[in-house]
Amino acid sequence: MSDQFTPAQQHADAPLRLFNSLTRTVEPFTAIEPDHARVYSCGPTVYNYAHLGNLRAYVFTDTLRRTLLWKGLAVTHIINITDVGHLTSDADAGDDKMEAAARAQAKSIWDIAAHYTQAFKQNIADLNILAPSEWTVATDYVPQMIAFAEKIAPAHCYELETGLYFDSSSVPDYGALAGGHDDAAHARIDPVAGKRNPSDFAIWRKSPPGEQRQMEWDSPWGKGAPGWHLECSVMSEARLGHPFDIHTGGIDHREIHHPNEIAQNQAYCGCHDAQPGFTGAQWWMHNNFLVDRQGKMSKSKGGFTTLFSLIDAGVHPLAYRLLCLGAHYRSELEFSADSVAAALTRLKRLVMGVENLKSRAEGVTWQSPRLEYLRANLHPRLAPLLEQFDAAISDDLMTPRALPLLEETIAMKKVPVDEKLCLLAAFDQALGLNLLTISRADLRVQPKEAAITPDEIEAELDRRQTARAEKDFALSDDIRDALIARGVEVMDGDPLRWDWRLNLS
Ligand code: AMP
Ligand code: ZN
Repeated sequence: MSDQFTPAQQHADAPLRLFNSLTRTVEPFTAIEPDHARVYSCGPTVYNYAHLGNLRAYVFTDTLRRTLLWKGLAVTHIINITDVGHLTSDADAGDDKMEAAARAQAKSIWDIAAHYTQAFKQNIADLNILAPSEWTVATDYVPQMIAFAEKIAPAHCYELETGLYFDSSSVPDYGALAGGHDDAAHARIDPVAGKRNPSDFAIWRKSPPGEQRQMEWDSPWGKGAPGWHLECSVMSEARLGHPFDIHTGGIDHREIHHPNEIAQNQAYCGCHDAQPGFTGAQWWMHNNFLVDRQGKMSKSKGGFTTLFSLIDAGVHPLAYRLLCLGAHYRSELEFSADSVAAALTRLKRLVMGVENLKSRAEGVTWQSPRLEYLRANLHPRLAPLLEQFDAAISDDLMTPRALPLLEETIAMKKVPVDEKLCLLAAFDQALGLNLLTISRADLRVQPKEAAITPDEIEAELDRRQTARAEKDFALSDDIRDALIARGVEVMDGDPLRWDWRLNLS
C-alpha cells in the first residue's frame, strides 16, 4: 500500500459475540487462555461421501475459525473422523454405520474408512476450508476410551447383556443443551431391555455372542466397540483438555449427541459441586440444516447431492461456499440447482471485478497487509467498509451482511485500485473465497458428461468470429447451430463476458 493516502482514523474493532446454544443467547466471547482459542468440531462418519449438508457444517466451522483468526486469536482446531461406533440411529440403536456399509459394499471397514476419509479431505480442500490443526481418528483412541469409561463406570454406568450403559439420571440437568427433555428425539430411541431411562445410552457395545465384528476390542466389559458419544468426549479431552473454548456440530447434535457428551464430561470431571456449569466446553455452537425440497438433506435418505456431483455438473465448489456464506449459519438454507447457479453467477461477477482491478494495478503490490496496519492506513473512503465488515463478522458471524461489502469495495469510486485490492484480500482471509487467486477461467468447470472440451468450443467460436468479420453469416449461423446441437449455448454480448455455457440435461 502506498504512503500517499491520508491515514484513516483508527477504529476500535468490534467485540466478538457468538451464539451459545447452552444459553440460547449471543454472548461476548472470551477465550479461556489469552489470545488462543481451542475448538473441537464433530467430524464425519466415514461410511459414505459427505453430502452438501454435512459440508455446510464445515464451512460454518471454517468461518468461525477464520473469524477467530481475524480477531487476532491463535486457533487450535480439531476435527475427528468417526470410523467406528456411529449407529444407524443417533440414539444408539440399530447397526454400526461402518459395519453396515462394509457388508453392503463387500469391503473391509478399514478400506471403507480410508476411502471416504480421503474423499472428505478432498471436499475440505476444494471448499478452501483450512485443514484442522489435527484430524483425530476414533479408532486411534480406543485405549483412552476404555480408560475414560472405566473411570466413570462405578458412579454413572450399569452393565446389560448388550453393553455398558450411561445412566443419564446420574448427572444434574441431563439434556439441558437440548432445551429440556426432547420427547420427540427420545421417542425415536429403540427400547433396550433393562435400560433404566429412555435417554440412557451405550458407551461400550458388546459384540453379540458368537458373532465376530470386523472392528472389536477387548475391554473390561467383554469384546466390543466404543459408543459414538464416548469418542468425542475422549478425543476432545485428549487433544484440547476440558474445558476448552468451543464445541461445534450440526443442529441435530444439540438433541442427543452433545447432551450425551456433556453428561460424560460431567461424570469424568466429577466437579459438579465446584463447577456447577461445567459441560466440557464454554461454548456449544450449532449450524442449521441445509434442506432441499424433500426436507433435511441426509445420507441415510440416499439420493443426496455431494460436492463431487456438483463439480461433475460443472459447478465450481467455491460457488457452494458462497451459497453457504449468503445465509447466516443459524438459518436453514435451501439448496437447489437455481440457488447454486445464482451463487456461481455472483462469484463470477466478483472474480471479474477483482480481475479488472488487478489489471489496473499492474506493478503495485496489493497483498493483504496485517489488519492493524490496514486499519491505520486505509483510504478514508474504504475505512468505513472495513469497520462494517468487522462489525458484521463479529456479530455472531453475520456473513450475509459482510458479503455485499465485497461488491461495494469493487465499485467504490475515487479510490486507488491497490487500496481496494488490499481490503478485498483482507476480507477474503475471513471469507475464504480465494477471490484474489482464482480466475474466471478456473470457474469454468468442465461438466463430466460434456462431449466437447472448452478448447474445442473456443476454437469454434473463433471460427465463427472470423466468419462474422468476413460477413459470412450463413457459416456463422451453421457454427452456432452445430454448437447448440452439442449442448453449447452461445451467449453473445453476455454482461459477464461468459460467452458460452454448457447445458446438460
Ligand atoms: P455425520 O457424518 O452424519 O456425523 O455428520 C457430519 C456433520 O454434518 C455433523 O455436524 C452433522 O450435524 C452435520 N449435518 C448433517 N446433516 C446436515 C444438514 N442437512 N445440514 C447441515 N448440517 C448437517
Ligand atoms: Zn461428536
